[in-house]
Amino acid sequence: MAASVRQIPGVVSADVNFASGLLLMEYDPEADPRGAAVAAVVGAGHGIEAVDSEGGPPLPAVSWWVKNRTEIRVGIASILLVLGWLLGGLASEVPSVGAFALAIIVGGSLVWRRAVTSLMARTLDMNVLMTLAVSGAAALGEWGEGATVIVLFALGGMLESRSVARTRRSIGELMSLAPERARLRMDEGEIEVAPADVPVGGTIVVRPGERVPLDGVVAEGVSAFDESPITGESLPVDKRSGDTVYAGTLNTSGLVAIVTTAPAAETTIARIVHLVEAAQASRAPVQRFVDRFSRVYTPIVMVAAAAVAIGGPFLGGLSPGWVGIEGWREWVYRALTLLVISCPCALVVSTPVAIVSAIARATRDGVLVKGGAFLERAAHVGVVAFDKTGTLTEGRPVVIETIALGHEPVERVASLAAAVEAHSNHPLAAAVTAAAAPASEAVSGVVETPGQGVSAQVDGVRVSVGSAAYAGELGVMSGETDAGALALEERGLTVLVVATGDGSDMRAIGLLGVADAVRSDASRAVTDLRLGGVAHVVMLTGDNPAAAARVAEMTGISEYRARLLPEGKTDAVGELREAYGPVAVVGDGINDAPALASADIGIAMGAAASQTALETADVALLGDDLSALPRFIGLGRRTMRIVRQNIALSLAVKAVFLALAMTGHATLWMAVFADTGIALVVIANGLRLLGGAAAARGE
Ligand code: ADP
Ligand code: MG
Repeated sequence: MAASVRQIPGVVSADVNFASGLLLMEYDPEADPRGAAVAAVVGAGHGIEAVDSEGGPPLPAVSWWVKNRTEIRVGIASILLVLGWLLGGLASEVPSVGAFALAIIVGGSLVWRRAVTSLMARTLDMNVLMTLAVSGAAALGEWGEGATVIVLFALGGMLESRSVARTRRSIGELMSLAPERARLRMDEGEIEVAPADVPVGGTIVVRPGERVPLDGVVAEGVSAFDESPITGESLPVDKRSGDTVYAGTLNTSGLVAIVTTAPAAETTIARIVHLVEAAQASRAPVQRFVDRFSRVYTPIVMVAAAAVAIGGPFLGGLSPGWVGIEGWREWVYRALTLLVISCPCALVVSTPVAIVSAIARATRDGVLVKGGAFLERAAHVGVVAFDKTGTLTEGRPVVIETIALGHEPVERVASLAAAVEAHSNHPLAAAVTAAAAPASEAVSGVVETPGQGVSAQVDGVRVSVGSAAYAGELGVMSGETDAGALALEERGLTVLVVATGDGSDMRAIGLLGVADAVRSDASRAVTDLRLGGVAHVVMLTGDNPAAAARVAEMTGISEYRARLLPEGKTDAVGELREAYGPVAVVGDGINDAPALASADIGIAMGAAASQTALETADVALLGDDLSALPRFIGLGRRTMRIVRQNIALSLAVKAVFLALAMTGHATLWMAVFADTGIALVVIANGLRLLGGAAAARGE
């Protein structure tokens, strides 16, 4: 359908989102092809309803809901079909043939209209095949078979679009969770307004039992929030002043005032829904294989059918009895059967339904998958590489030791470090700023070197905070500093060296020893990955080897690489790929962007909290829960297993019927019945992925 809209002059781009049923069209305002586009969609037998137009430069765009209106027609056609068979017992053939003919007209009206649209777009689709087959059957006087074929075909199409609508709804439901009213706090008191009318920075009040209408930060009150629409985790999370809350989550206990941080259209949940819709519309490589296959397969079988119809009677001369008009009839019938068999119904739905369902399933579990391709890659992952800080550890590090090395007192070391780290968003920076109030002098010229450290001018003096390697580059490591750092490292702490100077002449003034607790679910997740068939689990970190060894031991990871700079992590990903196959990198998505990007799948943790991670990762674990990872890899594997089953089943049934048709043992209606039947089996098989959280956990 999108293809036929694209043919219309003035249409710049047209895309139908398979998952949401939205048709988005960009057009040239001079030509204004909107009317023609609506006509094309209606012509293809769909209902259409305008959603919104965006006058966005450079091109105006408009989107429509495309609705299927097949149910009633299919119902009437089925009744007519049954009636035709019942009337078949009468002496006269006329009533029965009449009922069949009506069934063909009612049930087939959509099919032939779509066939015309497809031919005009110079493609051969299933509708063309079916129209030919049914016209042929009618020409041979096989009215009953023609009617059965068309009704079964229409029924199959209807069930297919319903199953897609079902998965579509499961995502749409997420959006509807954000309430339609917000209590905006004004000087005069609270007023109820639409969320879209709340200004960013406005204060809204959310009572216990209500859902949050907009993203924001808690300003007053404490409460627990059920964040399951976003993270998949239904255990309420406590929030107090300063904590982020998301639209669509449920306030379970106390009254809170929230200062909003995003307009209604840009809430986290809205972004997630858009990303999921885009993901469901994108195609996995296996799907492209299926499409390519049907593009070749369908014309080949059509040519074969023509050859059978034309050439058959000549061959027929060889088999006694199959000569003359009777023989010809038999061959045409076989050719029609071939046509029906050439319809790749089941094959075409074998993949998308499974993938759309799996993406919906993952979303409900708090895992945002950016496309079917990543499910496919997840299934083939040979090694999972974890970043350490913020991924295997909680990312809430605490400074537990501050050592002064020079003439500056310990307090000064801590406050200078805090002044610099106030400008970094590395997890370690949070520990440093939490440990001491920043020095009061003005800070300027902040330079952060990812994976190493930060430095800035504090009241004209340069202050650097970073790893020992970073300090080494600045030339500040001395015997005393080394020994102190080593002592802290041996305790499994992450070491930061604080140095000051005028840039060319720097000296270490102190050391910070930082501890970051290992996530309680980390070792379980590592075990589950191994049980799930991922042979290699590796840790990549910029931290010192002793801290790395401690975390590795606590999580059961046997292989780790420490003191890696960001480029080093990228190189390590390349080496792991050589050694073990496709690599999944799991990181926090903020500091690990290069490693995530170089992986076959980049997976970001706790992504709901970071818009960048949400947009850039291939897969985002929205919650802060590592157990989602093995579950996601398991889902990828099950998806591919189901896709493979579906493809094999569809092709096997085609092969059987091809053989039966060639030898004259298949009837038209059997061929359609098999095709529709298998399509339904394949759909049901795909929908299994949508259901059962228990199944998703592999229980
Ligand atoms: P990981 O690989 O464990 O996630 P990173 O690559 O983000 O760690 O950082 C590696 C090391 O670089 C840290 O252990 C720390 O010593 C240093 N570092 C990075 N960023 C900062 C910063 N903002 N402040 C201080 N040290 C930093
Ligand atoms: Mg990190």
